[in-house]
Formats: sequence, structure tokens, C-alpha cells
Amino acid sequence: MDTSARSAVNGGISFWFADDGIPPAREPLTGDASADVVIVGGGYTGLWTAYYLKKAAPFLRITVLEQRFCGYGASGRNGGWLYNGIAGRGRYARLHGHEAAVRLQRAMNDTVAEVVRVAAEEGVDADVHRGGVLEVARTPAQLARLRAFHEQELAFGEKDRELYGARATAERIRVAGAVGAGWTPHGARLHPAKLVKGLAAAVEALGVTIHESTPVTGIRPRHADTPYGTVRAPYVLRCTEGFTAGLRGQRRAWLPMNSSMIATEPLTGEQWAAVGWEGRETLGDMAHAYMYAQRTADGRIALGGRGVPYRFGSRTDSDGRTQEATVRALHDLLVRFFPALAGVRVAHAWSGVLGVPRDWCATVTLDRSTGLGWAGGYVGSGVATANLAARTLRDLVRLDSGQAGPTELTGLPWVGHRVRRWEPEPLRWLGVQGMYAAYRTADRRELVTHSARSSRLARLADRVAGRH
Ligand SMILES: Cc1cc2nc3c(=O)[nH]c(=O)nc-3n(C[C@H](O)[C@H](O)[C@H](O)COP(=O)(O)OP(=O)(O)OC[C@H]3O[C@@H](n4cnc5c(N)ncnc54)[C@H](O)[C@@H]3O)c2cc1C
Repeated sequence: MDTSARSAVNGGISFWFADDGIPPAREPLTGDASADVVIVGGGYTGLWTAYYLKKAAPFLRITVLEQRFCGYGASGRNGGWLYNGIAGRGRYARLHGHEAAVRLQRAMNDTVAEVVRVAAEEGVDADVHRGGVLEVARTPAQLARLRAFHEQELAFGEKDRELYGARATAERIRVAGAVGAGWTPHGARLHPAKLVKGLAAAVEALGVTIHESTPVTGIRPRHADTPYGTVRAPYVLRCTEGFTAGLRGQRRAWLPMNSSMIATEPLTGEQWAAVGWEGRETLGDMAHAYMYAQRTADGRIALGGRGVPYRFGSRTDSDGRTQEATVRALHDLLVRFFPALAGVRVAHAWSGVLGVPRDWCATVTLDRSTGLGWAGGYVGSGVATANLAARTLRDLVRLDSGQAGPTELTGLPWVGHRVRRWEPEPLRWLGVQGMYAAYRTADRRELVTHSARSSRLARLADRVAGRH
């Protein structure tokens, strides 16, 4: 194997935690307890929810229960794209009308600024750089999709987008074979673990109780059960995203989809000169099995993609370890994008899970009859969405408990959306493997045929998967 493709570290949660350290563990739960709101899961969704609820109603007793430590899940492992994409917008437009989906999109645009604002206000330095999002096309079919996507975004009110040809793209970043790119200002790069660690500290400083190393084994109305005791509360909010299938009764709820990443060693000045990328935009492409990347604050490239998409039986990885074949594939992708980086070593590789609902639509719900709430199913765009979901959960709890009336957020079309469960195994496994095999074949075909039409195979896979 090419030694540069062999990662120095594989797993260990993520490069982000290796870089910034895992904070000292918080005390587990030590017996039965009560609270006004109990939140299961210490990722962005759970912590932002605790943050906004406590800010709005300081008298509330809020407890967060986290199975390992805050940021252990996708929130401490992601690509650090804080951007305005939201899973399911198209379906919400069909279900609730275009205007309702435009309101959702506007709320997402504002969310990018909201995360940046609160992080600054709370003194959380998460290496934020607001360079927007750049998405490149490397084949005629990708270019056609990019243009169609651009038109769609304009129709949803994003008037400040830009579209570039090959030359203008190369002025920003030298991606080999790029034939065009789209750019939106509604995005920023950040260091995921610095954000989640800072957020947990801010939440704790407000007076929220956080118990780590406390797995919740069952959620029932007004109860969160753990091996160490039960926390009773009128509201129990499930914020477990890609781990949800591990909870009793939830095995066929959101599917845990893997995403894997690599981080290179820091590049030299010469290497950066070959790459460009001075705007430090988050970088993606328009492939069906798409990639995402960022230029880190310490001068590396962190790049991710799907790898092995799903483990049989909705299992999750072991502390972020990923397959060597995936590391090689991501390294190959890096070199295809930037041939000048052929000798650059992979310093760290890891993976995580994100939650995919059967209809690929993010949701936020509070069941008023049971006091059970949940948010997630962000399908890989949760860094910003979790913040909007959290503010919405805050408003739903305050509405239900009579502390406040309905708000703009409680009226957004993703509130209260229900979806059917995934198929039992082995259908679930076969379906997801088949879908990604189809995407990869479609990407290869588009590359060799130079056709401007998206491969029929990919469109078929989308339809079978229920994506559109
Ligand atoms: C590799 C990767 C790259 C990604 N890149 C991006 C990106 O660049 N931009 C973007 O917008 N999105 C990205 N995402 C998605 C995004 O990270 C997630 O949508 C988001 O972090 C979800 O936050 P969350 O708090 O809902 O879930 P999580 O961060 O997964 O948090 C859930 C928490 O619940 C805990 N938990 C689970 N079960 C239990 C239990 N039974 N009891 C107690 N605690 C429990 C877990 O330990 C975890 O800490 C990526 C995801 C992955 C995996």
C-alpha cells in the first residue's frame, strides 16, 4: 500500500478530539433523580436545547444524560461545515407548500449566523471562518446538476449565490478537472470538537446538570431509565440522532449511516500555493457519492465521504475506527482532486454515524400527550440544523407548559412530521448497499461518458431509497 495512504491513527473518536483533547469526565448519575426536562444525548442537539431552554427559563431544572462524553457522537467527528442545507426541504415544499419551505430555508440561513453569534458571545473559539460553501463539478453531468441546484436555491430565496466557470473556479481552488463551481455565503468552517466542548461548558455554567458515562437504556413518558437510576421529568427529549436505533423500541427508526473522514498532516506553503483555497470555503462536489472537505485552522485538509455506508443490524462503529479500504479510497480522492498532494500523509482517519429517516427528512417533534420529544434525522447536515431544532424544541416545551405562546419556529413545516420505519433486515442492509453501489457506478459512468445527463441508475436509486 502507498504509505501516505496509511493513517497514523485510526479511530480514537476523531482527529478533532486528538487535536484538542477530551475534557475531564463529568460524574455519572448516581441514583434516581428528578428534573423539569431531561435530555438524552450530549451532542449539538441536546446541548443547544439545554442552552436555549435554560437561557429562556433559568428556573428550569434540566438534566443531560450522555452515554460516553459530550461530543462523542457526530458532533465531535463531523466535517465542520456549518451551512444552511436542510434535509427534506423539497418534500416539505410538496407537503406544506413552497412558502412554508421558504420560511424553513430562511430560518436555516439565519441559523448559520446564530451559531457564530452565540459561540462568540459565550467565548467559544471554534476556529470559525465564514468563507461560505463552494461546490465543484468535475464532469458535465455534475455541472448540469450544479446548475439545476443553483436554480433551485434561487427559487428558495437564496439570491446571493454565485456560479463560476472553470477559470473562475481555478482562481479560488485548483481542483483537477473542475469544470465549474457554485458558491453560497451561507456557510462557515469550524472545529467541531471545540464547538461541542465549549457548548457543554457554557451549558454547565448556566446551571444545567450533565451526567456523562450514563447510557439511557429506555425512554418512557416522564422517565429516562439508566443502569444507575431513573430520571423522572415531565419532558424527556431524545437527542441521539445516529444512535437512536440502539434505544429500546427504536431499532427501525433513523438508520445510522456511516461517514468517514481523513485529516492530512499540515501542508507546506508550497503545497498550499499549488492548491489555492485562500477563501477557506467549505468544499464539496456534485458526485452522487459526494465528498466534503475543509481547510483546517492549522493548515491541513480534512476530507470525508461515505466509505462503507451502513453496518448490518444498525450497528455503530467502535470509537470511530474506519476500514483501511475507506482510508485508501479517501486518500485516492484527495489525490484525484489535488494531484500535487500525492505524497501528503494521512495523519488521522475516523468515522461516525448520522441519522437517516425513511423519507430523508429532518424533524423536530414534541408529543404533547406524553411529553416525549425528539429532533434529528438531519442526514449529514446537522451542524447548523441541530441549532434550529434546539430552539424549536425550546419553543415547543415552553408552549406546551404554558410559559409562552406559539412562535415562528413552532409553525415551521418540519415540526411534528412523522415517518414510517425502515424495513427489517436483511432488506435494510441490502437496500443501502445497493443504493451506494448504484451511486458509485453512476459517478464512474458519468466520468467516462462525459454525458451531461445524470445517470439513470442514480435517479432510480434515489427513487427506490425514497430520497425525492
Ligand atoms: C463523519 C461525519 C461528518 C459530518 N459532517 C457534517 C458537516 O460537515 N456538516 C454538517 O452539517 N453535518 C455533518 N455531519 C452530521 C452532523 O455531525 C450531525 O447531524 C450532528 O452532529 C448531530 O448532532 P446530534 O447532537 O443530534 O447527534 P450526535 O452528535 O450524534 O449526539 C448524540 C449523542 O447522544 C449520545 N447517546 C446516544 N445514545 C445514547 C443513550 N442511549 N444514552 C445516552 N446518550 C446517548 C451519543 O453518545 C452522542 O453523544 C457529519 C456527521 C458525520 C458522522
